[in-house]
Amino acid sequence: MSKERLIYLDNNATTPTDPRVVETMLPFFHEIPGNAASRNHPFGWSAAEGVDYARDQIADLIQVDNKEIIFTSGATESNNLAIKGVFEMYGRKGNHIITVTTEHKAVLDTCQNLERRGAEVTYLNVNEHGLINLEELEAAITDKTILVSVMWANNETGVIQPMKEIGEICNKHGVLFMSDATQAVGKIPVHPKELGIHLMSFTAHKMYGPKGVGALFVNRKNPRVKVTAQIDGGGHERGMRSGTLNVPGIVGFGKAAELAKKEMAADAERLSKLRDKLEKALCETLEETKVNGTTEYRMPHVTNISFKHVEGEGLMMTFNQNIAVSSGSACTSASLEPSYVLVAHGLGDDEVHSSIRFSLGRFTTEEDIDFTIEALQKGVNHMRDLSPIWEMFKEGVDLNTVEWSEH
Ligand SMILES: *Cc1c(COP(=O)(O)O)cnc(C)c1O
Repeated sequence: MSKERLIYLDNNATTPTDPRVVETMLPFFHEIPGNAASRNHPFGWSAAEGVDYARDQIADLIQVDNKEIIFTSGATESNNLAIKGVFEMYGRKGNHIITVTTEHKAVLDTCQNLERRGAEVTYLNVNEHGLINLEELEAAITDKTILVSVMWANNETGVIQPMKEIGEICNKHGVLFMSDATQAVGKIPVHPKELGIHLMSFTAHKMYGPKGVGALFVNRKNPRVKVTAQIDGGGHERGMRSGTLNVPGIVGFGKAAELAKKEMAADAERLSKLRDKLEKALCETLEETKVNGTTEYRMPHVTNISFKHVEGEGLMMTFNQNIAVSSGSACTSASLEPSYVLVAHGLGDDEVHSSIRFSLGRFTTEEDIDFTIEALQKGVNHMRDLSPIWEMFKEGVDLNTVEWSEH
């Protein structure tokens, strides 16, 4: 395999910044150096203009009022602000939060933190398709429930939860509904107000914007939602998030939102075709290969595939000089822990360890996909040729009856 060819299929970990976004940001580093909070000179006014324009671009993408956008450092911070902020603001009403086992760690770890501070948290399970059960959700709501937090699209599988139905249940019971929509915003139409979503996290670097800047949508009317600030000092962002605004980052985020609004439909159509081509080629030419999560409700650019009896990390080593993919999410793959998301789907250990996520993006080409298909076919066949387990499987040994030695 050639050393020079590099293919990036890890867009759910982060996307390359679009060159048009970079270009828009550049003047805001040196030529327009102001602090957006400096109200008494033109440097500050120009910076504030850049921020205001970006706020409009982002509000326009998700169809909310520009006053409902709170800038943060990213979706991790937005999730923390939303969940901790609601817990502290609505403590008098109750201490119960409902979320899902397949959420991002930025939600799960925040909930765990709150459990140590007296919160009761219900973690809803998902079925083998990765979807929650709406009746279970409704049954879990009590008069102490203050928040339901369900991610829009899963980062590992692309599975999309039934947001409209969840919104109806939350609104029927008068419970705040928050969503980590990081993987959905800019890729598919996301209009939180239409679905009764009250708080929503997202981040620039998953939609071809820069890293280190994100937003939290906070509903301002019917109901007026408030969150307790988690970072104090200066009272920026309507008192909910202090700190000098990242002006170039926000300007880039705005441009990324504008581009997404214009291009998402065409991107989605092109990428879903390439994704389907990849999936079909691998599943048709390689035995014992399976797509994880529903193929009915999912993002257009993602597929998560198990190559049974092949160890995913080893498989990746056969091509990772050339192709970037991921086993599990970027955050958990550092620890080599098996994906808790796929475990929650009910997959066995062997299937979890043999799965790989391919996430395509705006800059993925058909050539990239053709190259990847070939590399995966070679890699999987190579790994299986070396594998005694594969040999036993081919000989018809029922692997579930084999007693494995621990050594
Ligand atoms: C990437 C990601 C995050 C974290 O976003 P940052 O901006 O990197 O903090 C949170 N939730 C989901 C679903 C993500 O994919």
